[in-house]
Order: sequence, then structure tokens, then C-alpha cells
Amino acid sequence: MKYWNPYLETLPREAYDEIELSYFRNMLSFAKEHSVLYQEKLKGIEGRDIQSLVDLRKIPFTEKEELRKYQEMDPFPYGGTLGSHIEKVTTFRQTSGTTGKPVYVPETYESWQWRIEAWCHILYMAGFRPHHRIFLPFVYNVYVAFWEGHYAAEKLGCELVPGGGLDTKGRIHKILEIQANAMMNTPTYGLHIAEEAKAMGIDPASLGIERMLCAGEPMPSATRKRLEELYQCHVFDHIGGTEPCAWAGMCETKEGMHLIEPFFLVEILDRETLQKEVEEGEVGVAVVTPLGRRSFPLIRFNTKDLVIKGKEPCACGRTSKKIEEVVGRIDDLRKIRGVLFSPKTVEEVIRKGFPEIIEYEIVVERKGIMDEVILRTEFPPNFGAMKADQIKARLREDLKVKTNLSFLVKIEPPGVLPRYMLKAKRFRDMREGGKNE
Ligand SMILES: [Zn+2]
Repeated sequence: MKYWNPYLETLPREAYDEIELSYFRNMLSFAKEHSVLYQEKLKGIEGRDIQSLVDLRKIPFTEKEELRKYQEMDPFPYGGTLGSHIEKVTTFRQTSGTTGKPVYVPETYESWQWRIEAWCHILYMAGFRPHHRIFLPFVYNVYVAFWEGHYAAEKLGCELVPGGGLDTKGRIHKILEIQANAMMNTPTYGLHIAEEAKAMGIDPASLGIERMLCAGEPMPSATRKRLEELYQCHVFDHIGGTEPCAWAGMCETKEGMHLIEPFFLVEILDRETLQKEVEEGEVGVAVVTPLGRRSFPLIRFNTKDLVIKGKEPCACGRTSKKIEEVVGRIDDLRKIRGVLFSPKTVEEVIRKGFPEIIEYEIVVERKGIMDEVILRTEFPPNFGAMKADQIKARLREDLKVKTNLSFLVKIEPPGVLPRYMLKAKRFRDMREGGKNE
């Protein structure tokens, strides 16, 4: 079968809009009735006021900061964000808190099942099927990462092998021992496993992985292709978050991502005014309303994810809207020497043209009145200083072309830069007022 839910994945556009608007109205009424946050926030707005997508603009966005504020109330720790009775909550998740106090996210059994169903769409769309034995090289934690993937894979009939509690070498041995043929991991950790396998004298392509779903970090297409080359497998991306859930995923065409409709109502809004929907091919901010999750109602959640709106229809036959690309997080965009800079561009340059670089970090500092951008790089052991110096010169040129900034490229000894399992932090802004996470 081509689709996980053939009916829902091939609806005509008008049907999606109609269903989503009707779910939205229901969710709005539910939120006003059950969550203190929305009782206060949406005073004077009723479900019936929302008759078209344009009417959505009457409703204010929900920002992460508000969630934090309302969580200071009772009942602990969810406070006024809770949409169900506290005794109905069966699962605790939280955000990583890299931008401040974590947000605690309650799921009832019902809302958790709703999240998993949305994830089934993502996994099935990425070609995961019952014959896959999926290795999860990851330690489950308080974060949402891979919990949904785990349960969704089970629901699809795949076989799950939890790979927590092992180091990277141990995980590589386990993949070979049990003949796993699929993985779910962060792009960074996928690269790290490949690096470690090579150091052990094992070609990553011989691990037998045929399909990989990535999560946790924005993945430039150069990184996705790099993983495909290393493992000789198909690599898919998706986007989501702890609060809004996973709301878009890549199909077999690997051209952009499908919104998971009608589970979510996603608006892609002009980033200056946050008012109007952008055109196809333009960059906008994703504003997401999960339409069936009641334990933690969210109305027009500002994800601060910058995405490029995609084109329809898709060759796979699905009729949902698409995003062409994830540009990155608004919080990561910086003005450096008057130039707008996104760290994702550096990753794109490195993964595309410099596979020798195994780890890197970008540091912005203020020297006197000038901003300085330093790129710390790491090469494999015994790489050879002369070869590294040549690469350094070429890298400086490529970065200049792509970012319009001159980088100071430094070569660090092997093993100096940190390695990441989840949410790599390769960008540090040390300037006064710069947000250093
Ligand atoms: Zn498609």
C-alpha cells in the first residue's frame, strides 16, 4: 500500500481546508473551556468568528514565553497550559530549555496516541515498513526525541531495537550483530557513527542500513546527501518540536516535506509583519495549530522555524501542502558586520564540499569595534597538516562566497570539539547582547 491513510492523504484541497477550519473552531472552543491560558487570552473570540483561513489573523499567536509564564500557576508543573484534568495525564515531556526555563508538556493517553498516529504518517511516508528492524542509537530521556518514533514504528509493525546504554562502538557492533536495516537518529550522530565505524575499519555502507529517518536538528540537503553516500541508504527528514508535535515529513521523492494534514493547521507567514501567508518559494515563519491534541491545547503556536513554502502537487500523489526547505531557527539568525547570517549556511558548505572535516564550531566575537567570525575545524587523526592547510584556504573562499563574510578558520587537534547526540550546538555568539545558548 502506498499510503498509511489513503483517504486522508489524498483529499482535495478544499476538503482539507474545510476539515481543518472545523477542527480549529472545535479546538478553540475546547481550549477556552479547559485551559486557563486560553480563557484569558481569547476573551471575546469565539469559534464561530473563524469562517475562513483569513479569519485566523484575528487570533493572537501563542509564544513559548507565555507557556512558561502560565506554568508557574497550579497544578504543578503544567499550570494554566493544561487542557485536561491532571489525573488524566499519563506522560511527561519537556523542552530542552536551551533558550530559558524548560516548558513541561503533558500528554494524556489519548493525546499521546494522537501524536503517534501523526508520526505514523511520517514514518510510512519515508518508506518504513514491517520488514524493517530499526536500531535506535539513542538514550531515551525526558525529551520527546524518538519516543514518538518508537511507538509509531511499533504501530506500523516494524521491529524496534533500543540502542541506549551502549557507547558508539557498542552500537556499531549491535547493528551488525542483529542485522538492523534501518535507523532513526540525529544527522550529527549519524555522521558520528560513520566516522567511528571508519576508525574501526568498518565501511559504514557495510552496516546494512537501508533507510534512515533524521530528527532533532535542521538538516541541510548536503548533510542528508552525505549520510546517503556514507551509508548507501535513503535518508529522510522531518520537522517538529516538543510543543507543536511533528508537523511535516519527507516523502519518497525527497523534495521538501509534506504538512501532516489534517492533523495540523500550518500557516507560513511573512517574517516581517507575521500577517500574511507567503507565496510559493518564499521564506516564512511556521505557525502551527495541532488540531487533535487536547491535553496541551496550542492555538497558533509561533514555532520560530523559518521555512520555504513549497509547491503542490507532489509526484507521490499526496495532496497536502508542502514546504520546500527548512531554513533554520529565527533565533539563530544574526547580524554580523551588517550581514544577515544563518549558521545553517556553514553546515551546507562543509557537508557539500569538505567531507574531511569531522566536526566544527562557529564562534562570533567582538574584537574592538569589529565582529570576528571564527570557524574551528577538526580533521581525522593523522590527516596531515599540509593537506589540512590547503583545505582551510579553499574553505575560507567558499564561505566568503556563500555568506559574504570573512572567516578566521582554525584547525583544532582531534577530539577537542564536543560531539553531540541531540541538538548539536555548533554556534556561539560571544558578543555582548548576542544570545549564547
Ligand atoms: Zn510527496
